[in-house]
Amino acid sequence: MPSGSIIEPARRTDIVHATDVLVVGAGPGGLAAALAAARAGAQVALVERFGCFGGNITVVGVEGFAWYRHEATVEANGIGREFEERARQMGAAVPESQSLSYEIDSEGFKLVADRLVEEAGIHPMLHRSFVAPVMDGDRVAGIIVESKAGREAIMAKVVIDATGDADVAHRAGAPTVKTPVEEMQAASVMFHLAGVDKKAFMAEVKADPQTYKDWSTGEWTVETDGKEDDMFSPFLKKPFRKAIEEGLIPAHLSTIAGTWGAVHDSGELTYMNLVHLAGVDGTDPDSMTRGEIEGRRQAMLAVEALRRFMPGCDGVRLRNFGMSIGIRDTRKIDAVYNLTEADARNQGRFEDTIGIYPEFIDGYGVLILPTTGRYMHIPFRAMLPKKVKGLLVAGRAIGGDRIAHAATRNMACCAVAGQGAGVAAALAVKTGRDVAEVDLAAVQAELERQGVRIH
Ligand SMILES: Cc1cc2nc3c(=O)[nH]c(=O)nc-3n(C[C@H](O)[C@H](O)[C@H](O)COP(=O)(O)OP(=O)(O)OC[C@H]3O[C@@H](n4cnc5c(N)ncnc54)[C@H](O)[C@@H]3O)c2cc1C
Repeated sequence: MPSGSIIEPARRTDIVHATDVLVVGAGPGGLAAALAAARAGAQVALVERFGCFGGNITVVGVEGFAWYRHEATVEANGIGREFEERARQMGAAVPESQSLSYEIDSEGFKLVADRLVEEAGIHPMLHRSFVAPVMDGDRVAGIIVESKAGREAIMAKVVIDATGDADVAHRAGAPTVKTPVEEMQAASVMFHLAGVDKKAFMAEVKADPQTYKDWSTGEWTVETDGKEDDMFSPFLKKPFRKAIEEGLIPAHLSTIAGTWGAVHDSGELTYMNLVHLAGVDGTDPDSMTRGEIEGRRQAMLAVEALRRFMPGCDGVRLRNFGMSIGIRDTRKIDAVYNLTEADARNQGRFEDTIGIYPEFIDGYGVLILPTTGRYMHIPFRAMLPKKVKGLLVAGRAIGGDRIAHAATRNMACCAVAGQGAGVAAALAVKTGRDVAEVDLAAVQAELERQGVRIH
């Protein structure tokens, strides 16, 4: 086992771009941040390590953007809603099975995001991984990326960390917290299928409708408010139980179960969220390597179980895996204000609200759907890291405890935080202030101009 360390030689790195606002990571949080900053009048560059924008939607294949929405749900509006609407207009979304929302097509959304980025005049910088911040004292003045072109520097007046893992904040020296690996939410290898007989599949779903109560599989339990228990959920468990009984799936893999997304007339069954891997740390490449390989193995067991035991699936074929294992839970910043379980459960209200999010909690064994009109504010300070200037964090790495994260990690909430961060960054640049000192009344007014509900 090799050990020790080496000293890398100092080097000169070319500055390839300079901008007002630099967004790192192009998931729902980063994409919303870039669009909002550009629409607020800033020059914006958007850096992404993969070849498409969209983050978990396009990279992992997470298509359930707003599956929480019911009649009484109060919505944040803004760019998150626009993602759904533009996807629908561009033929990249279908009605979602359990809610009043659209399921976003993970492939089609690549084109939707391209179009949105182009229309907003954002400078796109794909295929570049952030590797280090450029610091000016305690201020983030830019970033170093690595790519096929080697190392490059990109300078900015404000940087928004939307990597999901708080990579920029962490490396810049801002305090972050990470759930202990044994308590992290499971990682998932997602996949999509082809060759489903839609009629036969839907006949079975209707004949034996599953509910959120069925999420308590024996392997894990889910706490609800009770009101969710008898609502329909596109949940699959029985074929895998049968496969265990028949010896196709080993008994210890009773974690294979979960939801399907959309079934298309073309015979595709997408967003298969069936594989749950405990103990995968999304900031550890060795752990992720093991997770990718084990996840693919389990996914193929699930496919075989569906072939044998789910009506309509006897002719299915794997269409594709997501480009990456799906990670739910890594670092979060220790923010100037960390959202709490009480905020998520009791409609937290804040003077510095930059948007709202309906009372939707999904994670750490809790499922609460926003069927009642309740909602919380998302405060600006939850995106503001300690100790480091010139930096905001958007998306799933904003400050909060576990149950708060079970709300804020959801993609529509990541878009709320992203839009708030984007507007705050643009206005900080415009007024020449550090982003921590931005005029919040002006931020709120611009967000309202952009169609966001903030109260
Ligand atoms: C399997 C699974 C199922 C889920 N189901 C749902 C669901 O049904 N509904 C829902 O609302 N949420 C769901 N979630 C949660 C949701 O997808 C995420 O919490 C959300 O996408 C986070 O958004 P984000 O913008 O913060 O980060 P991400 O979507 O993760 O985007 C981060 C982007 O940053 C890029 N990036 C990361 N590091 C770097 C770097 N160093 N340099 C350059 N680029 C970088 C990544 O490639 C990625 O494109 C699910 C998550 C998983 C994993």
